[in-house]
Amino acid sequence: MEQISLWMEQAEALRTTRPALADDLELDVAIIGAGFTGLWAAYYLKQHNPQLQVALFEAKCVGYGASGRNGGWLLGQMLGQDELLAGLPDDQRQLYRAIIQRIPDDVLAVLQREGIDCGYRKGGELSCAARYPEQLSWLQQELRHRRALGYDEADYRWLSAAELTQQVGMYGALGAIFSPHCATVHPAKLVLGLAAAVERLGVSIYEQSPVTHWQRGELRVVGSAGERRVRAGFILPCVEGYAIDCPPLGRYQIAVQSLQIATEPLDAALWAELGMAEGQAIGEHSRMVTYFHRTRDDRLVFGARGSYRFGGRLRQDFTLSEQERGRHRALMLALFPQLQSAAITHGWGGNLGMARRFVPHLLCDPEQGVALAGGYGGEGVGFSYLAGRTLADLVLGRDLPETVAPWVVNRRALAQGLRRWEPEPLRWLGYNAVIAAYGYEDRVLANPHSAPWRRHLASALAQRLSGLMASRPAR
Ligand SMILES: Cc1cc2nc3c(=O)[nH]c(=O)nc-3n(C[C@H](O)[C@H](O)[C@H](O)COP(=O)(O)OP(=O)(O)OC[C@H]3O[C@@H](n4cnc5c(N)ncnc54)[C@H](O)[C@@H]3O)c2cc1C
Repeated sequence: MEQISLWMEQAEALRTTRPALADDLELDVAIIGAGFTGLWAAYYLKQHNPQLQVALFEAKCVGYGASGRNGGWLLGQMLGQDELLAGLPDDQRQLYRAIIQRIPDDVLAVLQREGIDCGYRKGGELSCAARYPEQLSWLQQELRHRRALGYDEADYRWLSAAELTQQVGMYGALGAIFSPHCATVHPAKLVLGLAAAVERLGVSIYEQSPVTHWQRGELRVVGSAGERRVRAGFILPCVEGYAIDCPPLGRYQIAVQSLQIATEPLDAALWAELGMAEGQAIGEHSRMVTYFHRTRDDRLVFGARGSYRFGGRLRQDFTLSEQERGRHRALMLALFPQLQSAAITHGWGGNLGMARRFVPHLLCDPEQGVALAGGYGGEGVGFSYLAGRTLADLVLGRDLPETVAPWVVNRRALAQGLRRWEPEPLRWLGYNAVIAAYGYEDRVLANPHSAPWRRHLASALAQRLSGLMASRPAR
């Protein structure tokens, strides 16, 4: 468990070993993957129809994927949200914004009902400027953009440098945007607690049971006694970053990696300086995609953008190299030089799923008996709740605003509903060109001695290439 993440190591006591599939099965719904999406879908299927025969098939163990490894930000927002909602009439846009923003509160209601203690704290999200002055103007521009989209002070509020410093003892604090629509959680306690909750509802979970083949009404699963057949009315592949292991989904969703480090528990005197006492989800406004928070056991967990592997190959071994650890630590120390002598006790990472349009999708094909969700792009802790709940609604044919939301693809077949990724080496070249430009920009801007023309050039290049990763929903 310690090889998966700090979280899974800490939650070892909550873990039960579940059997691999031993016999052929007949089910109403078969779910592939025991992460948040699959578990939330199972939970709501059984809530609405306790008679359904539902089982999950997990290649490794509950929480092995991104759900047991993430940064613990449970966001009331989703990747590409404003681009997706842009074309809607005002009342519908408000409706869907409210559905997304309510996610942290909706999740809390389930945690309370099911007695899941995962350290939930709704301390909001802070997007900060601290390492270079350009971040301040980007943030101010971002706030103006959000106001133009109709968000008000209740959604996004400006914090001056002094107000930011009251919350986070960040070196060089310049200002921040605060949004209340975010909680932080202990991811492994959430995913393991949820697994126990769905089992109480009568769902079976098979671990060490990879699905090797799926087609209309049937799965092949390699269990404890070799390959077994599972017949099911509906199949829900909920594999996110692992789509390459579930053909043909890898054409539409590729894996990218994000990495994290964690300090040892820090003493009270240091935390008096660092703040973050409400469990705020904090990141800086830069293309390095930094994300961090103070854990319930007083560590700082610090993550940032990782990599992409040729062919969309999964990374299995997340033992961080010296260079990876060093890069994350250097970013952390630039913001918190007080942590110079703090030991880094853990380093890990995970695969997350990116769709070609850079927006999440849900799709349901009742004729083929398939429903799936994915493409959360690193913002799936909260959105997987809404996705799983909506997958259950779609399977049960419930007529709700969520089942016709803009993220539900209205063309049913995979090949029509989702856009394919370009073949290699284009993806690899494109991704690495963008990441190289982002890294260059960050190095230039973080150096106070960089000439203004160089700063301008580095930013212009990164900005231009960032267009390759912009959310472009289908119209
Ligand atoms: C390092 C990192 C940090 C992140 N931080 C955040 C964050 O702070 N906030 C946020 O909102 N999002 C974050 N994310 C993203 C978020 O964790 C994911 O979007 C979310 O957990 C996806 O859940 P899931 O259930 O869809 O997929 P997963 O949790 O990845 O589960 C998929 C499961 O499917 C299984 N599987 C795959 N193929 C098969 C097969 N053929 N047969 C059987 N089982 C199979 C896998 O073993 C895996 O357990 C982060 C991701 C990473 C990697």
